[in-house]
Amino acid sequence: MSPDRGDRRAVTAGFGALLSRYRTKTWLGGAVVAGLTVSAAMALRLALSPVAHFYYLPVMPAIMTTALLGRRSSVGLAIVLAIIGCELVVRRDSIADTLANAALFIVVAWAVAEACFRLRAALDAAQTMARDMARRELLLDSILTSTPIITLDCDGRTRRVTQGAAALLGVAPNGALNQPFETLLPGFGAAALQAAQRSDGASRTLWRASRRPNGDAALLTVAAHQLPDDADPEHTVLTLTDQSQAEAARRRERELNDRLSSVWRLNSMGEMAATLAHELNQPLSAAAVYLHTGQADLARIGPVAQPTLRTLDLAKAQLLRAGDIIRRMREMISNGSRAFTEERAAQMIRDLEPVVALIGQDTGVVIRIQTDDEDDHVLADRIQLQQALTNLIRNAVDAVIDRDDGQVTVTGRALGAEGYEISVRDNGPGIAEAQMDHIFHPMISTKTGGMGLGLSVTRSIVESHGSALAVSRPQGGGACFTFRLSRPTESEIP
Ligand code: ADP
Repeated sequence: MSPDRGDRRAVTAGFGALLSRYRTKTWLGGAVVAGLTVSAAMALRLALSPVAHFYYLPVMPAIMTTALLGRRSSVGLAIVLAIIGCELVVRRDSIADTLANAALFIVVAWAVAEACFRLRAALDAAQTMARDMARRELLLDSILTSTPIITLDCDGRTRRVTQGAAALLGVAPNGALNQPFETLLPGFGAAALQAAQRSDGASRTLWRASRRPNGDAALLTVAAHQLPDDADPEHTVLTLTDQSQAEAARRRERELNDRLSSVWRLNSMGEMAATLAHELNQPLSAAAVYLHTGQADLARIGPVAQPTLRTLDLAKAQLLRAGDIIRRMREMISNGSRAFTEERAAQMIRDLEPVVALIGQDTGVVIRIQTDDEDDHVLADRIQLQQALTNLIRNAVDAVIDRDDGQVTVTGRALGAEGYEISVRDNGPGIAEAQMDHIFHPMISTKTGGMGLGLSVTRSIVESHGSALAVSRPQGGGACFTFRLSRPTESEIP
């Protein structure tokens, strides 16, 4: 708003306030105003009579004043008083002259009074508007004080720095006025300003404010809006948003996710050790048996030197010991890590949502979770099962990561007494027919840097739940891994 317009509005509102202060609402008050103003007018008229005959003209201000301060009836009274007064003071040539002048006066006086009434209504409206505007400005000021907003002039210099903005930037509101915004937010130059305007809302670029008294640097996003009026001194409005807490929360979420991943990785290593133990146990036992048979064959051929027999016995004992160590390790892994409890399958899947969201965020793949939330009681080792699911989801994401429309769907279906079925489906290339047979074998991977353990670990987790991990190639393409969890009562899980 220009200063001229502001001044005019203040004058109008002031005049309106003055009138309403002296305005009378009663009939008696109006009559007094009419009487006093008409008397004053008649006195003026008498005083002027040696100079000239003014007839009704001097009475007009009285009519106007009465109209501005009194009621319509007061104006009627003033007109009557004015006619009587004028007739008493001025001698007329004829009755017709008297009547004609009086009639003319009534018409003109009433028209003037009507204009005054309208002026009065307009002044009242202006006064109400001024009051509303003042209230709104107050409200706006109080909102602005706490909102971090900075306005810039056409040259990019600060015109207004709200307390909220000053607190975020760690400067005094007045000390930050009239300087290039870049001095308050290092690096935020003309290019950044343009980018913030283009982003049509909060720009996602994070800016680090440098000068906070406690040494902390706030992380901010800046949204810029340019006002259409080029001549307005406050040309650009910058809205700052403190992202420090959100950023800290995001960092913490990532840390937790990393820790969760490393727990899962360790778990995978445990499973791998169990698989290896299983694989090694057989050749070790076979070697012990071969040694024993060899020893017997030697004894049959002829006498064998004692040191040779002792060495063979030692070798056998070491093989048996290695087998024993491996057996104990397997027992420890399988007994120590399984904890089957009654679980809600849908909840177990939904608890993965934050991790899944992060995977989706990092890869740009859309991951949907759809579950039957009723009738989802199962017997499961929650941690192991969530690890198995995460393995399948990660594989599915890897399979679609190069596609623009990559999608992964995790589905949970209640099958009544049959249990609860969980599947992970993607729209990637799927599993080649030739690969189907050995896809679950350990150490088989088509990925650079892949260990080929995920599926074998997942399968042993699923199998330890008394189920089987099935893979299929659905009609629409992609791959689908499915397994079923049994109900708590009918479970045959060890
Ligand atoms: P890794 O992920 O380390 O390769 P996995 O045992 O998890 O080990 O997977 C073995 C292989 O199975 C993968 O390298 C990939 O070729 C194939 N595979 C697994 N899941 C999928 C899937 N959803 N779509 C296509 N291929 C898959």
